[in-house]
Amino acid sequence: MKTALNYALILTAATLLACSPQTVDAPEAAKADTEQSEQVVQNAKVKALTDAALSGTQGYDIIESLTTEIGPRLAGTPQEARARDWGVAKMKEIGLENVRIEDFTIPGWERGVESGSIVAPYPQPLYLTALGGSVATPSGGIEAEVAYFPTFEDLESAPEGGLEGKIVYISGRMDKAPDGAGYGPANRKRRGGATEAAKRGALAVIIRSVGTDSHRFPHTGQMRYADEVKKIPIAALSAPDADQMDRMFKAGETVRVKVELGARYVGERPSGNVIGEIVGSEKPDEIILIGGHLDSWDLGTGAVDDGAGIGISMGAAKVLLDSGYKPKRTIRVVMFGAEEVGLLGGFAYVDAHKDTDLGNHVLASESDFGAERVYEIRSGLGEGASFIDELHDQIAFLGIEKGTKETNGGPDIGPMFNEGVPAIRLQQDGTDYFDLHHTPDDTFDKIGKEEIAQNVAAWTAMIWLASETEYNFRGMN
Ligand SMILES: [Zn+2]
Repeated sequence: MKTALNYALILTAATLLACSPQTVDAPEAAKADTEQSEQVVQNAKVKALTDAALSGTQGYDIIESLTTEIGPRLAGTPQEARARDWGVAKMKEIGLENVRIEDFTIPGWERGVESGSIVAPYPQPLYLTALGGSVATPSGGIEAEVAYFPTFEDLESAPEGGLEGKIVYISGRMDKAPDGAGYGPANRKRRGGATEAAKRGALAVIIRSVGTDSHRFPHTGQMRYADEVKKIPIAALSAPDADQMDRMFKAGETVRVKVELGARYVGERPSGNVIGEIVGSEKPDEIILIGGHLDSWDLGTGAVDDGAGIGISMGAAKVLLDSGYKPKRTIRVVMFGAEEVGLLGGFAYVDAHKDTDLGNHVLASESDFGAERVYEIRSGLGEGASFIDELHDQIAFLGIEKGTKETNGGPDIGPMFNEGVPAIRLQQDGTDYFDLHHTPDDTFDKIGKEEIAQNVAAWTAMIWLASETEYNFRGMN
């Protein structure tokens, strides 16, 4: 009885600790932490693996190598090709087997020149960048009066026509949230802004960047054209430049801007997924897939998006390999190509595997939400899957709770999840993720050693437990 009671109290303390670390006294926190690791982390191998991850820099070192030795890795470019070669070498270096590249091609796109300025009433430069996939302006740029829309919804509800000869400007702020809940709504103008403006006759579009910062870097990101609508150029303004425009419109000014973009599609280009494995000792045909995406936008060096995911998944594989423990199932690490331009690596993976081993994938997960700590487990295993409890028991000491929202496992996992592959996600704190996302400021100095180590610990525990468990992942589907 006494033991059971203590156990319950410790669990309660641990839960409180995870929910609100700032409200627990430091000695209490330390006590709860120690007792919990004795009482709850009873799997000795998970303890050894997470200890190795927490005291190491396996993931951090890989992120440093990728962002320093390769730098920006826009899909379809020679830089992304160099990153694939880097990936092959790194996988072999840490000891993965069956290392290979699965090639595919994509529509290549280049940024080209870009510049912008307010011409009237108060002439000054604008910091802007083309959205991925945008067409160019005529050489020399477009100068026109601006039609102002406070939000994308305001543009959507405007009548068709009426914007002939104008440049549309769409403002609208994105809300901060740990799970990035503000991104979807804010992203609508990035995806659909050019189409909605073109339907109404506009010449070009500028948007307030999809981001949550106040620095003077614009955020790029993929846009889309509807087939039947004229393609017009679209660029994003930095938040302070958007503020500047908003102030002029609030004052009732007539604003003229000039925008020049050299962005263009350059034909078919090579991309690919880099794959390596720890071959399972007892059930080698059953695959646990983890990974991140290797490509990045061209403006920064893709440290948080998604060098971190590459480092975290590769770091977990390295911790497991270095431990000498042999997983029963196969751990497959995938560095997906061409994610940013439309999850093309994720779709190519399904195409390449659907007639062979896709049905043997028992679990898949991608790390692609920055470099901060994991705070909860999200399940894509169906209601009440006991593996989530099994995993949670073993990683709760890292401050990780059981989430209530469902997941498709991450952007590149979505396509295989839709084909029936069970998925899970270790959800990271993305409160500040969209300060840096897709900007020149996404660089290695933003990566924290301790945060990456916590991620690697959680991922190592997850792949080990998934390889050893009796839980029937496929039985739920
Ligand atoms: Zn990403």
